[in-house]
Amino acid sequence: MTNVYNNILGLIGNTPLVKLNEVTRNSPATVYAKLESFNPGHSTKDRIALHIIEAAEKKGLLKPGATIVETTSGNTGFSIAMVSIIKGYKCILSVSDKTKAEKIAYLKALGAEVHICPASVPAEDPRSYYEVAKRIAAETPNSIYINQYFNELNIEAHYLTTGPELWEQTEGKITHIFACTGTGGTLSGSAKFLKEKNPNIKVIGVDADGSILKTFHETGEINLDEIHSYQIEGLGKNLIPGALLFDKVDEFVRVNDEMSAYCTREIALKEAIMGGYTTGAVLQAFKQYAETHPMKEEDLVVLVFPDHGSRYITKVYSDQWMEEQGFVNNGVHNNDEVYKTEIVK
Ligand code: PMP
Repeated sequence: MTNVYNNILGLIGNTPLVKLNEVTRNSPATVYAKLESFNPGHSTKDRIALHIIEAAEKKGLLKPGATIVETTSGNTGFSIAMVSIIKGYKCILSVSDKTKAEKIAYLKALGAEVHICPASVPAEDPRSYYEVAKRIAAETPNSIYINQYFNELNIEAHYLTTGPELWEQTEGKITHIFACTGTGGTLSGSAKFLKEKNPNIKVIGVDADGSILKTFHETGEINLDEIHSYQIEGLGKNLIPGALLFDKVDEFVRVNDEMSAYCTREIALKEAIMGGYTTGAVLQAFKQYAETHPMKEEDLVVLVFPDHGSRYITKVYSDQWMEEQGFVNNGVHNNDEVYKTEIVK
């Protein structure tokens, strides 16, 4: 029997590459998108949830009926909840009270126990979602805390899967990889594998305007003045994640909320690929990078598209939300390409 699986977890990984034809048409390079939304939990985080949980099982840290704890309202929570169901574990997630009801409903639909914590308290306050998760993990016997920002297994998951997939899918012809950095796991693990195969492959990290990662990479310093709030979820950070291997990254490109939003919609409208907000961020980073690093015809670029657009219907795909952000002028890019967001009435 082919294409038949024992359970949903068998579908994790081996995501497709799809050529981008319209949104990168100004570039001589061949550009592919790695569609991580083809994972069963619709994001790249399925890979790390499965790998971290199975590593703990191998070490004997998880007995039947164990509990998995993490702080997340996003993709990682969904993936952990999915893996927990199949493996018979309890999943407890602590999230901030800024989390949309819709997201909490997603997590509960997959059986997660969700603890809602005040966003307005400092990280070290016992009521913060970090401290609540730590306390639950410490108080619950037979439990693990995933701790994706500081867990080396996050990098290893991508070193063992995403990196080799990219090498094989491009038959070793890949010249550039672009990936968003939140924890840094996707970029670091893939880059570690790819640079072992060919050290000339260029590794470009995508950072957010309002995050400290790009400057830290360039200067080794944390510039607290750069921190400000922004709308793109899952991209950039106000701390230095342990899962980010800065020495594997050639360059960071910083993108803003507005241009990333236009790019997200542009990909949906021109390529019929509905990605999340960071999907637009990675395309925007490619466009900015190409302005200062002219690409060649023989270049083979992969943009990692982290998740599916269905989770962003009330955000970047909502005209009302776009207007609330003041994103009404539509994007102007590269001086020669004016991209107009179509308004659907
Ligand atoms: N995009 C989205 C939507 C995410 O949730 C994340 C994870 N924070 C990323 C991109 C970045 O992935 P990573 O954590 O592997 O750097």
